[in-house]
Amino acid sequence: MAAAILPPVPDTDTAHDRPLRVRFAPSPTGSLHVGGARTALFNWLAARHAGGTFILRLEDTDRERSTPESEAEILRVLQWMGLDWDEGPYRQSERDGIYRECIEKLKAAGAVYAAWETPEELDAMRAEARANKQAPVVRGRRDHSPEEIAAFEAEGRTPVWRFAVPLPGETVIDDVIRGTVTFDHAQIEDFVVARSDGSPTYNLAAAVDDMLMDITEVIRGEDHLSNTPKQMLVIRALGGEPPRYAHVPLILGTDRKRLSKRHGAASVEELEADGFLPQPVRNALVLLGWAYDDKTTTFTMGELIEKFDVSRVSKSPAVFDMKKLEVMSGRYLRSMDEAEFADALVAWLADTGYFDGKAADAPDLARRTAPLVQRKMSRLGEYDRLAGWLYRPLDIEPEALAVLEEDVKTSIQCIGGGLGRIEVLEEFTVDAIKDALSDQLHIQGVTARTFLEPQRIAVTGQTVSTGIYESLALLGRDESVARYRATLGRLAEQWTGGE
Ligand code: GLU
Repeated sequence: MAAAILPPVPDTDTAHDRPLRVRFAPSPTGSLHVGGARTALFNWLAARHAGGTFILRLEDTDRERSTPESEAEILRVLQWMGLDWDEGPYRQSERDGIYRECIEKLKAAGAVYAAWETPEELDAMRAEARANKQAPVVRGRRDHSPEEIAAFEAEGRTPVWRFAVPLPGETVIDDVIRGTVTFDHAQIEDFVVARSDGSPTYNLAAAVDDMLMDITEVIRGEDHLSNTPKQMLVIRALGGEPPRYAHVPLILGTDRKRLSKRHGAASVEELEADGFLPQPVRNALVLLGWAYDDKTTTFTMGELIEKFDVSRVSKSPAVFDMKKLEVMSGRYLRSMDEAEFADALVAWLADTGYFDGKAADAPDLARRTAPLVQRKMSRLGEYDRLAGWLYRPLDIEPEALAVLEEDVKTSIQCIGGGLGRIEVLEEFTVDAIKDALSDQLHIQGVTARTFLEPQRIAVTGQTVSTGIYESLALLGRDESVARYRATLGRLAEQWTGGE
């Protein structure tokens, strides 16, 4: 038995043995950005893969910037993405007493000290450190006499409480993604844990919550890496054991600059408004740092749960490319079955207010157009460009009119030829329309493009639209004929006017 001769493995890391507990901890100060959404997805997948627990915690201690609207929006977007939580949402604003108790414990343990420095004194301290070529880290004075303290109090000063970072020393993170990251304590300032009004800072509250919520693995953005040793120090000072950490890489735009609004949609809400469905959005987000192999870009939720492994996330920055999302999204829309696509389209149009102010049968019309647009779009937001003309009276766009005017005579001949055939059709079906127009184009001896483009413009007023045969069938004979005539009338006016 091979196992018997192996030396026992020392059990130093109990976080590995406990069932996985992860958390997503957004600050409700705006909408959910692509980076936050990816963090949420990674945590959720890690939990579902391991049969663990996904906890939602709202870090709303910044009372000025946190809003209930933002909170509601974040919850809504998580639900939209299909990320359900098992515990929470906890709100840090409701846990103030817990943090204050922990601050008292830190005081009793001598892990923190009252710091009386004014902002000006702190600036001078940093400037002096820089002048001495030292890291500009703040260390408060701890040797005030009782008289000095009495004088500060008489002046109305109240202290903040700083963590006494042990010197010399170092804190080592065994990061799941980045490997060993060592922080020399000389580089870590005595960070504030309690403000002068006694309220906890982010580093205190996050550390306390991770400890008390029994989080086993913290998966979050690399921008938090420098907070991690501070939070580990707090947890250890409180007698706890820090979780494992996995810092996921930064997200850049295609220009390799940090992702922002300049790169198109930077929030999930905007992606949703542009008509991307959750499935391709999840695919695009999960690939920001993680890959299963070098070719698979489409995964069902079930496949992601099965395959996702946070230790396989890369530490190099990830690039968010809207074009790739569009490709994934178009592929996804085309892969949907017809009814599923129609449901998604009508629901999205209704949610975005598309039917507001339109005829009562507009949702029904949208459903009938679904098969006409399904293969032509990369996101639902392109619907109006393709099919919006159906909801409006004929209005020829200037660039479409210019196409007809390039050769007015031929345009009139083609539209007139088409009209002559469709107005006498017995059955106004896609096939009958197609046969008649194909026949006519051969009779006129022009190319398909020369013949069909004016037909499209005559009825839709646009150069881009749903397919011409299907569009005519959908409009019906009377409306089609009326539109042909109106366009012809308009061209004829120009023709004679120009003679
Ligand atoms: N509330 C922090 C943020 O939104 C996240 C903190 C954390 O994950 O520890 O950036």
